[in-house]
Amino acid sequence: MRNTLVLNASYEPLSTVPLRRAVVLVLQDKAVVEQAHPLRVVRGSGVQVPVPRVIRLTRYVRVPFRQQAPWSRRGVLARDQHRCAYCGRRATTVDHVVPRSRGGADSWLNTVAACPEDNQRKADRTPEQAGMRLLRRPFEPTPEATLMLALGLRAGELGELAAWLPAGA
Ligand SMILES: [Zn+2]
Repeated sequence: MRNTLVLNASYEPLSTVPLRRAVVLVLQDKAVVEQAHPLRVVRGSGVQVPVPRVIRLTRYVRVPFRQQAPWSRRGVLARDQHRCAYCGRRATTVDHVVPRSRGGADSWLNTVAACPEDNQRKADRTPEQAGMRLLRRPFEPTPEATLMLALGLRAGELGELAAWLPAGA
């Protein structure tokens, strides 16, 4: 089950929460449903609630609980749009720029999407040692990209949700 996007009372995207949490916020009148799944409902004790895809808090939250995207292989592939950082072809693996065996971390800035061939060719070496060039530097996902990752969406999958995210997300 995908998460629900949470907007501040001002309609600014804040975060995502698991569906169950979103329903509780709505039932407690702490949030209203802005966009619901067209076909599905959640049944609770005597109540029936449309499955919320986007909710909006009824009170303005002054300190946004913006999520810091936790590093994940899936996240790196999504951030790099499944393109190999070395050749631009379709990537299905994640490469550590500085290999883990040399102290490289599982972090956004040390990992890139890579095709299996380039990942294997680079092996346990830095790009310099392997004579390979990064087409682009790894980067921390933007808050908007973080929200998309948390929603389980890839680029191009936003659909109707795009209207809720800041331009350029
Ligand atoms: Zn490649």
